[in-house]
Amino acid sequence: MAKKEITDLSVEEKLKALYQLQSALSEIDEKRSLRGELPLEVQDLEDEIEGLSIRIEKIRTEIDEFQKAVSQKKAEIAEAQASVERYKTQLNDVKNNREYDTLSKEIEFQSLEIELCNKKIREAAARISDREADLKASEEIIEERRNDLEMKKNELDEIMEETRAEEERLKIKVKELEAKIEPRLLMSFKRIRKNARNGLGVVYVQRDACGGCFNKIPPQRQLDIKMHKKIIVCEYCGRILIDPELAGVKTEKPSAMEDKKKTRKRAIRKTAKTEESETEA
Ligand SMILES: [Zn+2]
Repeated sequence: MAKKEITDLSVEEKLKALYQLQSALSEIDEKRSLRGELPLEVQDLEDEIEGLSIRIEKIRTEIDEFQKAVSQKKAEIAEAQASVERYKTQLNDVKNNREYDTLSKEIEFQSLEIELCNKKIREAAARISDREADLKASEEIIEERRNDLEMKKNELDEIMEETRAEEERLKIKVKELEAKIEPRLLMSFKRIRKNARNGLGVVYVQRDACGGCFNKIPPQRQLDIKMHKKIIVCEYCGRILIDPELAGVKTEKPSAMEDKKKTRKRAIRKTAKTEESETEA
């Protein structure tokens, strides 16, 4: 394409450049939509795994604390048993009933202590067993999620790998086209595109209607569009309107996504009418 100064471009050339820009941008949109929900799903899985890791860490800490409590109670039991042994030995050398009673009470008291400690140990053991079941379940879930994450990440990487080169090429094309379009027109195009649900800022006339919002275009306005003498926007949606012929002149076919979107929309909107024929060149 011969390099021209922006100001040298006719309205027709500007419209063509805009339409080519639109096509390239739609193709990029399509590549990105191929990734679909994957980036979100990856993010969700990463968040869930992080939550599970924190939970597992907490369970482990709890188990650890119960185990420490068990050790402490065991130490207390050993101490109490040693006391009992000592008192039992002393019982052999008692000199009177009073001493005998005191030692007997001590032995009874220490025995009760041992019983209490054993009760606490059983309780802690039950809790450890509960927590261990929790831990096992959480570890199974985290393992599953990690596998899912790995799979989804690989899938996403593959898609990115496939589309990266193409996307780069399209981005360069977009830059080249943008350089050809005067800044004010480019800015309004970008604004229209941003506000348009399907990302289309430039559409061509389809069956006397705007190709973006499908509202009818008055005959006089259609004539003006065909003249390629000024930039005309849809009075309903504000998209820049071009004549299908101008869109057909472009060197590459519009992106598949763009077509699919249009077809779907048309199918929904025009279920009553059956004699639909593509006006695309
Ligand atoms: Zn419209």
